[in-house]
Amino acid sequence: MPFFTKESLENLRQKVDLVDVMSSHMDLKRSGASYKALCPFHDEKTPSLMIQKGDTHYHCFGCGAHGDAIQFLMAHLKMGFSDAIESLAQRFHVPLDYQEGTQEQKGPSKSALKEALDHACRFYHFILLHTPEGHEVLQYLFKRGIDLDFIRQFQIGLAPKAYGMMRKTLHAKFVSDENMEAAGLITAGKDGGWREFFNERITFPIRDAAGAVIGFSARKYLEETYGGKYINTTETVLFKKSRVLFGLNYCRRRIAKERKAIIVEGQIDALRLIQAGFAITVAGQGTAFGESHAKELMNLGVAEVYLAMDADNAGQEATVKIGNIFQKEGIDVKIIQLPIGADPDSFLRAHGADAFIELMKNSGDYLTFLVKHHSRTHDLNSPASKTQLIQLISKQVREWDQPVMVQETMRKLAHLMQVTEESIGVSLQYNPNLYIKKSAYAGSHEVNADRVVEVDFLRWLILFGNSQETFIPLAKANISPGLLIDPPCRQIYETFLNTPKMDMLTLATQIDEGQAIVTDICQKKINREKIETQFNDSMQKILDRHWMREREDVRMKIQTGQCSDDEVSILVKQFDVLKKNPPKLVGCQV
Ligand code: ZN
Repeated sequence: MPFFTKESLENLRQKVDLVDVMSSHMDLKRSGASYKALCPFHDEKTPSLMIQKGDTHYHCFGCGAHGDAIQFLMAHLKMGFSDAIESLAQRFHVPLDYQEGTQEQKGPSKSALKEALDHACRFYHFILLHTPEGHEVLQYLFKRGIDLDFIRQFQIGLAPKAYGMMRKTLHAKFVSDENMEAAGLITAGKDGGWREFFNERITFPIRDAAGAVIGFSARKYLEETYGGKYINTTETVLFKKSRVLFGLNYCRRRIAKERKAIIVEGQIDALRLIQAGFAITVAGQGTAFGESHAKELMNLGVAEVYLAMDADNAGQEATVKIGNIFQKEGIDVKIIQLPIGADPDSFLRAHGADAFIELMKNSGDYLTFLVKHHSRTHDLNSPASKTQLIQLISKQVREWDQPVMVQETMRKLAHLMQVTEESIGVSLQYNPNLYIKKSAYAGSHEVNADRVVEVDFLRWLILFGNSQETFIPLAKANISPGLLIDPPCRQIYETFLNTPKMDMLTLATQIDEGQAIVTDICQKKINREKIETQFNDSMQKILDRHWMREREDVRMKIQTGQCSDDEVSILVKQFDVLKKNPPKLVGCQV
């Protein structure tokens, strides 16, 4: 996790212009001393989102959405905290310095690499559209039903056959070899010269949440081209394979809003679906889809996943694997069954978007798919074979983390296989995996239990204190600053109570370790329907912790044996009173 120096964050804070940031994502209208817009966080016909001139916060009088520039990027574009900072720094031309030892990698800045990749993207696009070599490839693409609109919309390009052209063009744009190499565009050859990474391939730019190119996926169009059907940019500072999902930059908002996603195999499938209006589609790139990709989608709040893999063996195997990753986490998996030999691209071209909607409606659940998939190799008429199949599937299902889902799935399995629930152990007391999930507090610092509890409380207060009118009074009534043990947390709390309308950058810069805490505050996935309960819970935890410690103190005093009998009897009474009066939140309807 990169942390930035206070100075650079302070410089950034002074430069950030909220109206400027927001107006590139929505239509802001000036009205007197304020700006108005249709709120992107709820559906409305008359604008109720307002920014007062010179204010660092927006506020929606319809739904209560409230925040500063960073919160806007996080809420609207679903960016992470440090990505939001980097994107603002790039926009307002503020150089960011890293705190010692927290920079991910030495070398060229991310913005220099993005610039190199942007030039490369334009270059490839130009080659495809305006050269004889490109025209041949265009014919190939046209035959596959990819037209000029599609090519322009997604900036598809061509890495030419001849080595050296891209590099020369980028030199003319003052991009150095060092930056091209760090961006994954060229590699050093054995002869000491430079080799361009992509050759004779159709290029699909891959973009980050803010739309900047961070790498390419490149498909060969000639059988004889060396390498796999698709190759991707190698791991770079910008391009983290385990996190990059092709198509996600076009779909983040819709995925977060609808809480569902479609996963397909190929890049063209994804783009075709997105173009046809299914802007909730990402490409899993075959077997490369792993748990961290699933996490990316889960962080957007996905509750339902549609798998639309190719109707061939590889596609079915991928369905088993990817489906399991989501089911394991308690996320509903639906399987879209394409006609044999089809992929989403060919299906959409042949039958249109409405037919695909029908496919989605008729999609089956994961368990039914598994049973069907394994029945191909297990004869259900043979009792031994049927038992084997049941064992195979129940073993997989019992490894999922979600007890309720395991139980329900096992019940369904019994039903599908026409055996009794008892015979496959449905009614047995099920022991969930009790291992502790990886903490959401992914800072480079050690996990500090007190801080975790306090950051949780600060999260709801700071992110929602300005939109939920009860939050600040409730916090004041229940949590005196002295109840917070972690000094930076306490300091942030006091600062916030004094100045609730403080922006995130100020909080991050005014307090020692402020950045680490603000990062933690921003890092958790938020379920808007539950913020009130979660806020109350977080206060209750702090009160409980204090109460337990008070009791413990009294008990220790009694046990030291250094008190007189009278003192002990007072202490014992005190202990009893404490014990009988667990802390209750005041001013809350529980
Ligand atoms: Zn709103």
